[in-house]
Amino acid sequence: MTNYGFYFDAESCIGCHTCQVACKDVHDLPVGTNYRIVRSFCTGAWPAPGLYHLSLSARGCDLCSDLRECGEAPACVTACPMRCLEFGDLDALRRAHEGERLVDHAAPVANADMANPNILMRLKDCMLDPDYDEIII
Ligand code: SF4
Ligand code: SF4
Repeated sequence: MTNYGFYFDAESCIGCHTCQVACKDVHDLPVGTNYRIVRSFCTGAWPAPGLYHLSLSARGCDLCSDLRECGEAPACVTACPMRCLEFGDLDALRRAHEGERLVDHAAPVANADMANPNILMRLKDCMLDPDYDEIII
């Protein structure tokens, strides 16, 4: 059976929330309900602060089954202006991104409860700093 999941490129994500908004739009979700969540974090300290963003599918995500039945990609994937998101068989995604610094299962995510486990993530250097603060945007 195909193990579907997402590839997320934290190195390229600019934290614009377009994926989150596209998901809300296509599912007509009310205020306060999100199947995709974008969060931003700062790390380090002056003079070398870091910033990274996470875009994660959350509880309720149906992998855009209606769109995929029509041969289209999930709305969050199509909407991303930086092409940070990909969807498909996780093994195929691993092969496609071989050589990149990847982690499985969304680690090191600040709050692991935020994420579904089916994610393959390209890391950004500053994500490895154990000290971080969430930025509310
Ligand atoms: S796959 Fe569809 S439901 Fe899941 S996060 Fe992306 S847009 Fe939302
Ligand atoms: S994944 Fe893409 S659309 Fe979502 S916040 Fe990052 S850059 Fe924006």
